[in-house]
Amino acid sequence: MADTTIMDKLVSLAKRRGFVFQSSEIYGGLGSVWDYGPLGVELKKNVKDRWWHAMVHAREDIEGLDAAILMHPKVWEASGHVAGFTDPLVDCKHCKNRFRADDPRIKGTPGQPDAQCPVCGSKGTLTEPRLFNLMFKTFMGPVEDQAAVVYLRPETAQGIYVNYLNVLNSSRQRIPFGIAQIGKAFRNEITPGNFIFRTREFEQMEMQFFVKPGTDVEWFERWRAWRMEWHQGLGLDPAKLRFSQHGPGELAHYAKAAFDIQYEFPFGWQEIEGVHNRTDFDLGRHQQYSGKKLEYFDQAANERYLPYIVETSAGADRVALTLMVDAYREEQVEGETRVVLGFHPAIAPIKAGVFPLVKKDGMPALATRVYQALRRRLPVFYDDSGAIGRRYRRMDEAGTPFCVTIDGDSVTGGTVTVRHRDSMTQDRVALDQLDSYLEARIRGS
Ligand code: ATP
Repeated sequence: MADTTIMDKLVSLAKRRGFVFQSSEIYGGLGSVWDYGPLGVELKKNVKDRWWHAMVHAREDIEGLDAAILMHPKVWEASGHVAGFTDPLVDCKHCKNRFRADDPRIKGTPGQPDAQCPVCGSKGTLTEPRLFNLMFKTFMGPVEDQAAVVYLRPETAQGIYVNYLNVLNSSRQRIPFGIAQIGKAFRNEITPGNFIFRTREFEQMEMQFFVKPGTDVEWFERWRAWRMEWHQGLGLDPAKLRFSQHGPGELAHYAKAAFDIQYEFPFGWQEIEGVHNRTDFDLGRHQQYSGKKLEYFDQAANERYLPYIVETSAGADRVALTLMVDAYREEQVEGETRVVLGFHPAIAPIKAGVFPLVKKDGMPALATRVYQALRRRLPVFYDDSGAIGRRYRRMDEAGTPFCVTIDGDSVTGGTVTVRHRDSMTQDRVALDQLDSYLEARIRGS
């Protein structure tokens, strides 16, 4: 299967089964903005819940935060985004398309007569590169004047930095400690694409860990390893995960060291999370721009310092895409193609399908009772339409790990079959054990 075909198939499966839809589709769609349908919203929620659990609930040294999307405009001056969050772009004067100046499809030098537009093929119509800020601007208050310009945040991290003393003073934390946040971020990306890989509105899962200067290198190494373990724990193919270190030329202005965690997508190795040693750059800048002291006072050592920050920054949408790509497979079964999303049971949107084998002999009534009992604890799906094989296939495509079938023996003997998505084998399970049977496999695997 050609690699691009996999992405096309996934986009079509995502729409058909209600994972992801194009935004405003009935109006022709909005570029690189996507909506999550019933299954997609569950998948993404499971990703975020697992992250929140690993970061906030399972650790004593991290607190949660939910800062607003809109922030004081000076935040973005201090952070460097107003001056530096830019891409050099060129326009085609003929077809009006816009490209990054380093777009490999451009032949020749933009601004010169030899340059050729990669879309319409015109020569000499590409402008000189101009800097284009990736932040979305909007206006606050009734008058659209310069003073009221605010930005949609391009990252969630700044909400953490400006609240670090609030969190410190209102919790029992001492350095080293972290603040975790999940929230929307917006970037007017100029070469968006690859489905939900790069979008203009997305969700970040960011954690900023505040440490004493001098201990930053060892904390950076710890976080790097922990974050890789987290991705592996989602059931991703370990051979498709790797670190990629930023060389001196690639390091962001604030970073002392940076590693990307990359996944091998059908369109190549790409970042899914960044782990950065940001030094005291952020707190230093906010201290300078706000005029407020942001130092930490270590009572035991009787010393003051500006903490260093180790950041872990992942995209919830990108992780959701990674899971879908990693899970997608096609198999030949009895002369037919079976499409499977082999999700780890803990992140599968639906945990079990519940089916009466046939619509008679008391099976639908018992199946309904089983379904009603299970759905109090797990996302489950009832289906009594069509041949049982077709119902299994529908659940395979949705990534549902278990199917519970109620047959004649269930009515008389109080047992059901549980069919496993990946092996397609079946177990006979007593009805009063069904809850614990499923829960153990969803939790434990
Ligand atoms: P890239 O080089 O891919 O643009 P970046 O280095 O700008 O990413 P960061 O600013 O480090 O990315 O953002 C951290 C994480 O946020 C990324 O690893 C990614 O998972 C997610 N992310 C960033 N930009 C987008 C986007 N436009 N769409 C979806 N997710 C994004």
